Amino acid sequence: MTARIIDGKAVAKKLRAEYHGRLEHLVAEHGLTPGLAVILVGSNPASRLYVNNKVKACAEVGIRSERIEMPVDVAEDLVLAEIDRLNADPTVHGILVQLPLPPHIEIRRVLERISITKDVDGFHLYNVGSLLAGSTIFPPCTPYGVQKLLEHENVQIAGRNVVVVGASNIVGKPVAMMLMAQDATVAICHKMTRDLAMFTLMADILVVAAGVPNLIVPQMVRTGAVVIDVGINRLTDGRVVGDVDFEGVRKKASLITPVPGGVGPMTITMLLYNTLRSAERTVGIGDPTEALLSA
Ligand code: NAD
Repeated sequence: MTARIIDGKAVAKKLRAEYHGRLEHLVAEHGLTPGLAVILVGSNPASRLYVNNKVKACAEVGIRSERIEMPVDVAEDLVLAEIDRLNADPTVHGILVQLPLPPHIEIRRVLERISITKDVDGFHLYNVGSLLAGSTIFPPCTPYGVQKLLEHENVQIAGRNVVVVGASNIVGKPVAMMLMAQDATVAICHKMTRDLAMFTLMADILVVAAGVPNLIVPQMVRTGAVVIDVGINRLTDGRVVGDVDFEGVRKKASLITPVPGGVGPMTITMLLYNTLRSAERTVGIGDPTEALLSA
């Protein structure tokens, strides 16, 4: 068996075109342009690159973006005051604070200050908790991207065995919750899991988000499994690879995501979507696909 490759770039492009259409409707019918505010503290080059990519993606679909840069030694109170200003601004529908923050700023205090109706990253405790309870407003972007890829490929979730490798708050745990909400049987593995292969071999759908190149080799994958590789690792020779031995595993899986070009392009796409949805909600527009999240 040779797996079909899930082209995350193509799926992201298709979804962004769809969101652009919805955005045009919002502008034409309601005179409303969605707005995203991004706060960047300090000048970490990776964070700057991520922020640039987000701002650029917003411009491409027609979302207005506001970029707020603060010096690395900014007082926490000033960051909180900026969030208060953005919370009160009706032209801002999404607020994102680029992580990491300098050590003198308490991340939780900053994230908890963002209005839950503008928390497009889904990191506020309200949204984290309501993901568990099945009523989240903003699913976190990377797990949401994984869900959308599976949905786009018509992968059946209900009743399937899902194994998630990685238990972080931003990827592993939420992706497990989201797929469990769709009636999958889910196991979460992490770095203390004994005999990882025993679990991964049970997976009809294997989601890997550990940050370890070549962690998943063909002997650990069930024939015909769907393999979603969230990992992004830069090797010393400059190559970017995921956590899965792509060439080996693709001979055994039925569907597989490449790195780069798999989950990566979906993360910003879902940020755009969360911002669009936030704006749509202010004028009472619903979305039936969100019922999946409140199952
Ligand atoms: P993290 O370091 O916060 O968490 C890693 C998780 O993997 C932990 O639960 C850890 O216990 C587990 N783990 C580590 N080594 C393991 C091993 N040998 N066996 C089993 N489990 C192991 O990382 P994160 O923020 O969740 O990110 C994970 C990966 O996903 C990274 O490569 C990151 O760059 C990537 N990522 C990609 C996107 C995207 O847009 N595609 C977004 C976020 C993160």
